Formats: sequence, structure tokens, C-alpha cells
Amino acid sequence: MSHVIGIDLGTTNSCVAVCENGQVSVVPNAGGYKTTPSIFALAENGKRLVGHFAKRQAVTNPKNTVYASKRFIGRNFDCESVQRAAEYTPYELVRGSNNDVRVQIDDKEYTCQEIAAIILHEMKRVAEEYLGEPVTQAVITVPAYFNDTQRTATKDAGQIAGLEVLRILNEPTAAALAYGMGKKTERIAVYDLGGGTFDISVLEMSDGVIEVLSTAGDTFLGGEDFDRTIVGHLVQEFDKEQGIDLGADSMALQRLKDAAEKAKCDLSLRTTAEVNLPFIANGDDGPCHLNIELTREILETLVGDKVRATMVTVEKCVADSKVAVKDIDQVILVGGQTRMPLVQSTVAEFFGRVPHKGVNPDEVVAVGAAIQGQSLVAKDDTPVLLLDVTPLSLGIATFGGNVTHIIERNSTVPIRRKHVFTTTRDDQQSVKIRVLQGESMISRENDLLGEFELMGIRPAPKGEPEIEVTFAIDANGIVSASAQDLATGLEQSITVNASGTLPPDEVERIMEGIDLDEIEFKE
Ligand code: AMP
Repeated sequence: MSHVIGIDLGTTNSCVAVCENGQVSVVPNAGGYKTTPSIFALAENGKRLVGHFAKRQAVTNPKNTVYASKRFIGRNFDCESVQRAAEYTPYELVRGSNNDVRVQIDDKEYTCQEIAAIILHEMKRVAEEYLGEPVTQAVITVPAYFNDTQRTATKDAGQIAGLEVLRILNEPTAAALAYGMGKKTERIAVYDLGGGTFDISVLEMSDGVIEVLSTAGDTFLGGEDFDRTIVGHLVQEFDKEQGIDLGADSMALQRLKDAAEKAKCDLSLRTTAEVNLPFIANGDDGPCHLNIELTREILETLVGDKVRATMVTVEKCVADSKVAVKDIDQVILVGGQTRMPLVQSTVAEFFGRVPHKGVNPDEVVAVGAAIQGQSLVAKDDTPVLLLDVTPLSLGIATFGGNVTHIIERNSTVPIRRKHVFTTTRDDQQSVKIRVLQGESMISRENDLLGEFELMGIRPAPKGEPEIEVTFAIDANGIVSASAQDLATGLEQSITVNASGTLPPDEVERIMEGIDLDEIEFKE
């Protein structure tokens, strides 16, 4: 039986694991590292690079080095967080034909799906080298709070990478699977703060069943934001000392970003860290050097509001789960940013318990994905029953800019729900169904997943026709919708194709055009 790999496609780093003879191994890359930077670059000599190779040349080639692209996958180019990010992203973001976000490098436009595919392909290759055989199937994880568009885009990336994606699995659910379960029922909270996203889930685990009770999060909050705040502080301090603004120098900013992240990680172990960047700028009297001391206290002042922001989401999620804080038996930390002492103490204080230390926050998600992959193909094992939830409510736009929710957030998936609508004008022959995802009751404040038109409705006075709309969310969290005129039986269905995703023919076109084997990967 061929192996199914579990891939944690992270904002900052990715990790791959595989299940062999009941044991899960996290697979190291050729350089011996168990995580690989989720970075793609086009080097100055025209070579395409991925992983550590790409990271190493980022400082001298910031415009052609794409990092943290997971923040843009499946996003609408016009959305506020993308526009804000475009201001500080050193590589160029451009609008794609379906309003998706693309990256312009030289004269080529890369879709975020292609970039994710390059990273996924690299993880596939790492696993193949380790196993000594081809790998074709994978479980890929996504933040629990990813919407339909982001999930579809990730699945498309898997396909472009030459993988059959057996399941798109939520990261906290994967972490719970890796944590394992005993005979007694346990309620656990998974607090996941990675490079780009924050997620919190409350789960109940009993013998053979993992049930997600609630989930909440922010897909634009993570360690990258911490780094950016530190960079802002360093720029300000340098300006005060030397009267030079480094903010417009993309090479200096890339060096500052690296140094800020390093200092941040050092400050998880120590209380002070030096940021030393010689020859960072040229002043009137020659080269200037940056030498600034950061303390843990300064760092905590700089990013304290971000840590506190996560706790507001935690409170909401725990309230949604209907489990009292005192009844939560275990807290699991996932994501590199949870190594920060302030994060750990804030979480411990809220839950009144020290988080579980037995899992590696960088590897636990890939391990869970590999376990899930194995259980999807091994017919003889009794699979763990995973009852996951949809993070966002699903509804349709109704008259007057309102929304009618058809599936509420935190409903267990897969799920199928029907709702009957009618016309608002006499003899109305068509209705437009606009599928929305989000919590606001005002339609324009939600994500528009797609729209379709049901035509040929039998002429009738307004309010008489009955149009039944069915929404389905599959186990991957991916949405489909259909509408039927109950009088004529006329039906139209769509697999929702929102702006931010790619039409199927575009995915095929990319698959034909991309040569993944030409990418340099050797350490
Ligand atoms: P992940 O997406 O889980 O790979 O998390 C990556 C994020 O964790 C990045 O923003 C890293 O800078 C951050 N990170 C990794 N190690 C540490 C550490 N020791 N202390 C603080 N942050 C860390």
C-alpha cells in the first residue's frame, strides 16, 4: 500500500509526516531540518529556489522572494487586509483575473496556488526521498478559520503539485489527533498561533471520537505581525539616533525583518537580545551601523495588544463551546509563536492551568495529518470519528442587503441544509442567489463565495413561487449550493467559485505550464 503523507502547509514553515507500521515520523529534508521555510524565490541567475535555499538569499533579493504567501491564498484582492499587507510586502502583489491575489516576479505572474503548489511539491519530494517511492496522496492542513475560498485554493494547490488531496483538515483538529486520546472523555482547547494565523478550538475527545465543539480565529494575525511591529520599533529607534529612515530601503527592511524575528525568538529564552546590523545605511559621514538592545519587557510592550487580541477570540470560542473554562481538562499550544513566554503565561492565566508540554508545536499538525491520512486509507483499522465544524456561518443575500443564514457557524460538517425562498416581484422569471460566508447580518460585510441565477421560474404573483436552496459543506469545509423551483423541478447547482479562487480550466492550464522539477531544492 502506498503512503499517504500529512502536510502542514504553514505561513512561515511547512512540515511533512508519514505513518509507517503504526508509527508516525516527521520527515527531515536533505539539510536535516524537520521544517522547511514556506518560501519561493527567483534568484538573480534565473534559478527557481524553494525552502532554506530561498530563505538564504532573501536579504539580497527581497523583491523576488515570496514568503508568507499563505496570507493571500484564496483572498479577494480588494479586501482590506490584502491592501494593507500590499503596502509592506517587498514583493509585488497584483490583481488576478478572478480578483485573486497574484505575485509579479519579473514578467511572470504567479498565482498563490502555484506558489503553494511549489512548496507542497517540495514537501512531497522530501517524503519521496525518505520513503524511496513515489507519493501521490496527501492530507493537507489549513487554519480552522479558513473560509471556503481559502480551502478550495489550498486543494487546487495540492492538485497542481501532483497530489490527490484526500482531505483538507483543520490544523487544531490535526493537533488533537496527534495529542491522542485515552479512554476517558477529555475536553481540550487548542491555541494555535503560527506565523500568519491564529486559531482557537475547543474539542471533546472520547474513545474513538473527536468532536470539535467550537472554533474561532483570525486569519491575519500571527508571528509575522509581531516581527513587523519589532521592525517598526527598530526603524523608529534608528531614525531617532541617526536621522535616517530605513523604511524605504527594501534590502535594509529585509535584514531588519530577519534580525527582528531572530531577536524575538531569542527573547523567548533570554531577557535581552542585541540587534546588530553593520552597514545598514549610508549617512553623510559614511556607513552607519544599527546596534539596538531589545529586552523581553520592550517586546512585550510592543506586541502585548496582539496577544491580548487573541484572548478576546478565545473567550468567544469558549463561550460558543458551552464548556465552562474550569471544565477544560487540557490546553495544547500549537504554532511557533506560542514559544513566547507572554503567550504561554497569558493562556495559562486564562485557563487556570499550565498548557500541555508533551507535543512539539512545530510538528504536531503534520503528525495529526499523517494519522488522518493513514486512517482514510487503512480499511482494517477502526478509524477515529472526526466531527469537525464549519468556522463561519453560510447564508444568502436577501432583499434590502440583508442575510439569511442557512448554516450557522460551529455546525458539525459534513452538513446539508435546505431553505425555501420566494420572489419579490410579480411574474419574476429569475432569481439571483448570492452565497455568503460570515457572521454579519449585512450582506456586503460577508465574503461573497459566488452567485448563480435560477432562470425559467413559472410566471406567478410575487411570493408564490417556492425556490428551495440547498447548501452543503463537505468534510473538507468546502461549500456547494443548488436551487430548485419546486413547481417546475427546475434545478441549478454550482460548486461555488468565488473571487479569489481559480476556475477549473485555469488550474488545468497552470498544471500544464508549471515545471515543478526544475526548482532547486538541494541543501
Ligand atoms: P509556524 O507557522 O507554526 O511555523 O510559526 C512560525 C512563527 O513562530 C514565526 O513567526 C516564528 O518567528 C515564530 N517562532 C518560532 N520560534 C519561536 C520562538 N522560540 N519564540 C517566539 N516565536 C517563535
